[in-house]
Amino acid sequence: MDEEMSGAVEALLDQVGHETEPKALFDAANLRGQVAIVTGGSSGIGRAVALELARCGTHIAFCFLDSGAESRLDAQEVARRLREMEVKVFFRSCDVRESKEVKSFVADAQEELGGVQILINNAGIGRDGALWNMEDHEWEAVVRTNLDGAFFFTRAVAPFLRAQEHGKIVNITSVHGIRSEFGISNYAASKAGLIGLTRSTAVELGSRNVNVNAVAPGYIRTTRLTDGVPSEILDRARERAVLGRLGDPQDVAGVVLFLCSESARHITGAVIPVDAGYLL
Ligand code: NDP
Repeated sequence: MDEEMSGAVEALLDQVGHETEPKALFDAANLRGQVAIVTGGSSGIGRAVALELARCGTHIAFCFLDSGAESRLDAQEVARRLREMEVKVFFRSCDVRESKEVKSFVADAQEELGGVQILINNAGIGRDGALWNMEDHEWEAVVRTNLDGAFFFTRAVAPFLRAQEHGKIVNITSVHGIRSEFGISNYAASKAGLIGLTRSTAVELGSRNVNVNAVAPGYIRTTRLTDGVPSEILDRARERAVLGRLGDPQDVAGVVLFLCSESARHITGAVIPVDAGYLL
């Protein structure tokens, strides 16, 4: 082998050696200094997501409905814990069903925190009942919160993400957007709609380097869920899940964090179940 050739072979071997060096499987370094908006960040899954992002150095804007004194205290406590992690925090009540409130929340949050790169559409409610007994207001409350709310926030945030050609949106749908059960026609329709919205948003923002995905949790232990759902239904859910357990908010937050990280840069339009195998 002549000298020139052996130099080239050495350079190639160097490169190969370099490329096969082990890399961290999960790289959340890009999250430091970014700004995330989390809807319904004062409790349950939204709170876990906000705390998990803040742990990686992401500044957090979160909204809540302000459905009573307890909800206000929850929001203040979340803000206190976020500040302890030395990230900037913006929070106030904002009803996701109200398009104007959403617009002004997004404008104020991005001004206060210096931009917005991540949106987590998490705020959601249920009002269960057989569909032939369901009142108009029970249908509307659920569809407007779970679906219209996500649309309003996505529409308000999209211009910022488009302009900077970078962003992540994660929608919290549900296994019930994929497989329904008795008494949840409003909830199932809203969560199936949210999956459609996820795919359409992914199509429309893909060319601007924005990843849009959904997470579909199974039964997750949050205070509201544990309080509100009859124990027979939770027992059935536990039996149906092949791992034989309910989830914790942290189980969902970990997957949301992954989807916001650059480790997930090649994933868009996906719906990822976090359900212990409930859908199998
Ligand atoms: P929680 O009830 O614990 O929290 C809901 C959050 O959303 C609260 O911060 C609440 O604010 C806020 N919120 C409700 N309505 C509005 C509104 N109109 N405007 C602004 N904020 C609002 O819920 P979970 O953590 O259990 O659920 C979070 C998401 O995960 C929901 O979308 C839910 O459908 C989904 N999910 C949950 C599962 C579970 O088993 N827990 C399973 C599958 C999906 P406030 O406290 O002021 O009312």
